[in-house]
Amino acid sequence: WRGDSNNEMLTRVYGTAWTDEKALKDYLTRLEEAEKRDHRKIGRELDLFHQQEEAVGSVFWHAKGYTLWRAIEQYMRERLQAANYVEVKSPQLLDRVLWEKTGHWDNYRQNMFVAESEDRVLAVKPMNCPGHVLIYKQGIKSYRDLPLRLFEHGCCHRNEPHGALHGLMRVRQFTQDDAHIFCREDQIEEEVASFVRLANSVHADFGMHSDHITLGTRPEKRSGSDEFWDRTEAQLLNAARKAGVEPVVAEGDGAFYAPKLDFQLKDAIGRIWTCGTIQNDYVLPERLEAEFVGEDGQKHKPVMLHRAILGSLERFIGVLIENYAGAFPMWLAPVQVVVAAISDDAAGHYAEEVAAELRKA
Ligand code: ZN
Repeated sequence: WRGDSNNEMLTRVYGTAWTDEKALKDYLTRLEEAEKRDHRKIGRELDLFHQQEEAVGSVFWHAKGYTLWRAIEQYMRERLQAANYVEVKSPQLLDRVLWEKTGHWDNYRQNMFVAESEDRVLAVKPMNCPGHVLIYKQGIKSYRDLPLRLFEHGCCHRNEPHGALHGLMRVRQFTQDDAHIFCREDQIEEEVASFVRLANSVHADFGMHSDHITLGTRPEKRSGSDEFWDRTEAQLLNAARKAGVEPVVAEGDGAFYAPKLDFQLKDAIGRIWTCGTIQNDYVLPERLEAEFVGEDGQKHKPVMLHRAILGSLERFIGVLIENYAGAFPMWLAPVQVVVAAISDDAAGHYAEEVAAELRKA
């Protein structure tokens, strides 16, 4: 009761109701299908990855799984370079002083892994945003430098409770296809609209169908005035419409500092997965004192758009495995060709030659 083991024990009972026999049958088929597609089972059968107690919540990627991983990474690099992003790499360990400035030390401390060295306390980054602001802050930025799009396949750690972990879907160590767009306020709509188009196109390339996009609006516990929320929610709504999408409003689902758009994808058996998000954040650039020199020669604060298309590579690969039931399209398949010889004779010569030719290609 109330998540406390000292309280009285309760049993949760689930029930479902259906309008007719057929709807019930469809539902049961879907459950059966989901079980067959379980990414942990297929991951084992295809020799993609494993997990074990010595690294709770983390993944050991085997050669075939990591081949799939790199195919995704390489594809994302090509798409983002073409969309005028630049790739960066930020440190894993960052000083406590920085996390105090960002507010994570006060609000997120219980989810962070902490280390000590000499007389300093460091935290393993749970997100890449502060590191990217520190990169942005090197050198004077002018309005002509904006929008600046920094991207990183950033490895993050979050101390999720043991009981919440689930295969690749919920882990402690994960890699985000993360980027931050630093821009002027008048550039937000165009940047968000371009992002919505890019994300839809990437999802389609992976064979995932966009079901809808949600607009997460102001939560009950939040910072910023009502005028601020009116303005930032309208920015995202207008941008989505500009990209030809009418978002579904998810009341109160925004972050405490900014609203967000979330991409809801439908897989082969009709399940919905949230992959991809964008937020327009005015708070972090302020807290870490990021600036640019405007056309008027004065200093201004940039807005920071936090965005990801896949979310985390671990979870997205889990979704892909279940969507395709392990039968990946050619460009993602870790094993693309098998050469089968019909006799030992052929295996020694011709089959080896064919295999060598294919490897080269
Ligand atoms: Zn971020």
